[in-house]
Amino acid sequence: MSPEDQIFRRAPSEFALRFAAEVTRQRTTRKYDFRGLEKGKGNMFIGMEGAKRDGVRDQRIGKVVELSPPERLLAELPLGEERAKVVIRGREEVRDVLQGKDPRLMVVVGPCSVHDPKAAMEYATRLSATARALRDDLLVVMRVYFEKPRTTTGWKGLINDPHLDESGDVNAGLRIARKLLLEVLDTGLPIGCEFLDPITPQYIADCVAWGAIGARTSESQTHRQLASGLSMPIGFKNRTDGNIQVAVDAVRAAAVSHAFAGIDDAGQPAILHTTGNPDCHIILRGGHGQPNFYPPEVEDALVTLGVAGQPERLVIDASHDNSGKDPQKQFFAAGDIADQVADGNKAIVGVMLESFLVEGRQNLVPGEELVYGQSITDACIDWEDTVSALERLASAVEARRGS
Ligand code: PEP
Ligand code: MN
Repeated sequence: MSPEDQIFRRAPSEFALRFAAEVTRQRTTRKYDFRGLEKGKGNMFIGMEGAKRDGVRDQRIGKVVELSPPERLLAELPLGEERAKVVIRGREEVRDVLQGKDPRLMVVVGPCSVHDPKAAMEYATRLSATARALRDDLLVVMRVYFEKPRTTTGWKGLINDPHLDESGDVNAGLRIARKLLLEVLDTGLPIGCEFLDPITPQYIADCVAWGAIGARTSESQTHRQLASGLSMPIGFKNRTDGNIQVAVDAVRAAAVSHAFAGIDDAGQPAILHTTGNPDCHIILRGGHGQPNFYPPEVEDALVTLGVAGQPERLVIDASHDNSGKDPQKQFFAAGDIADQVADGNKAIVGVMLESFLVEGRQNLVPGEELVYGQSITDACIDWEDTVSALERLASAVEARRGS
């Protein structure tokens, strides 16, 4: 017997047996409680409490806090049959629009980010009525974005920082986010989300009919793998410098199967084997301060897709570098995209608008009250302009049907 075999085959020590029994006991008796964790119970400091760190590992981790597993939140806030129908129908309708089987235009519309669930619900209530009125021409999906990729620093969204104070209470963030998603589904609206963190989808993705991968992460292998396993159609933004090829490459990468490390419903580490997502598309969002929604750029993007053997379809984001984040320019960009649709361009399958109750944006300043219904990330068009933009897009679709 080799020395290694001797080590591995010898009977476990009494200490090892006691340790294993304690781990099993803790696993089976630990009660995850979102509200308890939010109040700071369940903080786990690195190593045994009071023990010194070993001077090698986790030298820049301040503290580790338990994250309640996905199955706990899903049990606390279940999707339920009626809302599941809204999600499944939404996914099917998005897929049909992407494939040209449904001649309508998908419009992903809503605030750049949600920071106040009350204002988001007021917006959802208004939007669901408008969506119903325009449903013959538009498939309206509400943008309910909780994760904000930042160019440098800034508020990272409601899941990461729900109390807007950098306390990083992710347990509260996930619960508030899921509760809002369920309420939005109750209005009958399908939901669009950006996926940024590879773990959070386990907590919310069952509520989502369409997903986005942002401009800063379209080139990331982690996000392409994630998209390959998500249950809904996914749009990949072009890169912030305007590069469209990376988004086209992402569509190809996400279409095939991958294996990667993640977590399962119980929060246990798991190897996720995906089957690939055939329902992906690119999103033109401009780049380097320049728009890319005009007909020549749209044509170039379709050629890039064609060369890659991908379906010639795309969504255009009227905001971000397509408007210099100026709400007035965004409104005009939406009008220009509508003109291209009215002229018969069938490859434009969707439009994205950043819209909220109040126009513009505001800074999050500690101690200062925020304007109700106004974005704290990118500037949005207001509700009135949103309704006229949607009506204009709906008439464009009617014109396209006749062309
Ligand atoms: C967004 O949709 O708010 C966003 C951050 O977009 P992008 O990734 O295109 O910058
Ligand atoms: Mn934005």
